[in-house]
Amino acid sequence: MEHLTESQVKRLLDAMEQREAELRDQVSGERERAMEMYAQLEGVAGDEADQALTKIRAGIENELIDRHVRELAALEAARGRVAEGTFGACVECGDPIGFGRLKAYPSAPRCADCQTLREKTFAGTP
Ligand SMILES: [Zn+2]
Repeated sequence: MEHLTESQVKRLLDAMEQREAELRDQVSGERERAMEMYAQLEGVAGDEADQALTKIRAGIENELIDRHVRELAALEAARGRVAEGTFGACVECGDPIGFGRLKAYPSAPRCADCQTLREKTFAGTP
């Protein structure tokens, strides 16, 4: 991570910590809401339209939980790369990832070029 100064790395670590705290809050809220919805589905003999809607909403909460849990894992991996001293280098080509990109997306494992290529190759997979 020679292209990043110590204070830049520190700023990114702070941003990661903040984002992790945010995500943990969100995930616990989402889990609670999903649980409530499933409890509703089991408890109430409500009309079918209500049940269907609750199922859809529970599914949306579950997708959010998945996405946020994956982001938490990516942040943890990024911290691991900081510890190893490989943070800020693209995991595919080894090129330095710019500070601007890392500021917007601190857990970015790839440079913009490799990320674009990957998105084209595996549409939809992170
Ligand atoms: Zn790359």
